[in-house]
Amino acid sequence: MVDNKQYSPGVKKYIQEAKKLLAQKEKDLKRIKKLKFDTIAIHGLYTVEEALKQNQGAVIEPLYLSTAQAYRDSDEMEAALAYLIPTWCYTRFANPTTYYLEWVLALLEGYQTGFDTSCLVTASGMSAIMLAVDSFLVKQKQGPEKINFVSSIQIYGGTFQHFTIRKMQERGIEVRWVDHQEDIEEWKTKIDENTRFLFSEAPSNPQQSFCDVKALSDLAHSWEIPFIIDSTCATPALMRPVAYGADIVIHSLTKSITASGLAMGGALISRKPIITKVKNDNPLFKESFAEYVKFFPFRDNGPAASPVNALFALNDLRTLRSKMDLVSQNSEKVAEFLSRHPCLYQVDYLSLESFPLHSLAKKYMKLVDSDDGKGKEINRYGHLLSFRVDGPPQNARKVFDNFKLILRAGDLGRIKSIATIPAISTHLQQGEEARTKADVPPQMIRLCVGAENPDDIIADLDQALSSL
Ligand SMILES: *Cc1c(COP(=O)(O)O)cnc(C)c1O
Repeated sequence: MVDNKQYSPGVKKYIQEAKKLLAQKEKDLKRIKKLKFDTIAIHGLYTVEEALKQNQGAVIEPLYLSTAQAYRDSDEMEAALAYLIPTWCYTRFANPTTYYLEWVLALLEGYQTGFDTSCLVTASGMSAIMLAVDSFLVKQKQGPEKINFVSSIQIYGGTFQHFTIRKMQERGIEVRWVDHQEDIEEWKTKIDENTRFLFSEAPSNPQQSFCDVKALSDLAHSWEIPFIIDSTCATPALMRPVAYGADIVIHSLTKSITASGLAMGGALISRKPIITKVKNDNPLFKESFAEYVKFFPFRDNGPAASPVNALFALNDLRTLRSKMDLVSQNSEKVAEFLSRHPCLYQVDYLSLESFPLHSLAKKYMKLVDSDDGKGKEINRYGHLLSFRVDGPPQNARKVFDNFKLILRAGDLGRIKSIATIPAISTHLQQGEEARTKADVPPQMIRLCVGAENPDDIIADLDQALSSL
């Protein structure tokens, strides 16, 4: 927002009017930030005044399907298209329904972190990842020929493909893999002055590997580079990486955030400001990275979310905290059952004390606004778990094929229990060697536990396992 002398009195009039609106929004924001997590999730920025004044009293945020916004006159149009006033303009740039979702996510991810945050909602998790990383991979004046970034190898299969094919093979950008992301020393050996950012996913899908979010943020910042984390499996109800110094948080909204499974979407949330040594003439780049991406690269690349999808996500998000609590408790029960089963040689779930990364995850995965009776938040670990069936891969397939209630799909984050064999689905394209490195054997079944009564899920697993 700039008040530039070159604009006509008519344009300046709109800038003045916008200032008043923005001042009101600042006031609203201040008030809303004091509310609890659930209250923000349910109301967001959609205030009583806004409902009454602008939306005929509609209790629920309205769905704006219109592709474009009309203006009162040429002055307003000029002010809007120069981004001098708040505007949504065209649904590829922004949309009023998507705007409500963006603000809820920004507020939830920034909740009690001590930082302000901004958010961009995109068509999918992958487009959010692409937009987050691309801005740091631009050629710099007098910059080096060869640049690199460092990433945990235990990441979502689609992200692995994006990094290896789209970045490494097509663009010659070196991806330096970290095999054990919990080991901060390994990260240290991979970084040099041409490293543009660090990337992690925690808990990772499907291995549930974890990283020391605080230590990694500090390490990134000591090199003046940002730490980007895909926190899809945690959701802001269980972890808010910004609190520990992460610069950019990615979510596939398609997963637990939209647990109904009715919409695709992605989100890029940035801390204000981010740390980077990449030079960019636009001050927003550092000050409010998500807004920078939204106004420029996102607009030019085009992966806008449908406002219908945004509304589905917004609606599911209202009950995120209680849902994550419930599915986490169900998962603990299921994991305990599985860990006692004689036909399995490994069960991985972050809550299990036998899980190697349990104590690290315990530091970070906590149900927001919960209380264990002693003033501490309760640990909750989400609904992703995996188990490995004894014997040849055929055994795992036999168990898998015998599920009656649990759905077989490469999906996760649902209100319904869903299972997959990652080696033949989500991680098929990676190839055997990369799968071995990432510890995704063909005996592994990934299970994402839903909100059904856990006794019924356990009974289904029991009968399927008895087919062996
Ligand atoms: C599914 C997923 C993605 C990709 O999201 P889409 O919405 O499918 O594009 C990224 N990261 C993780 C951890 C995921 O599970």
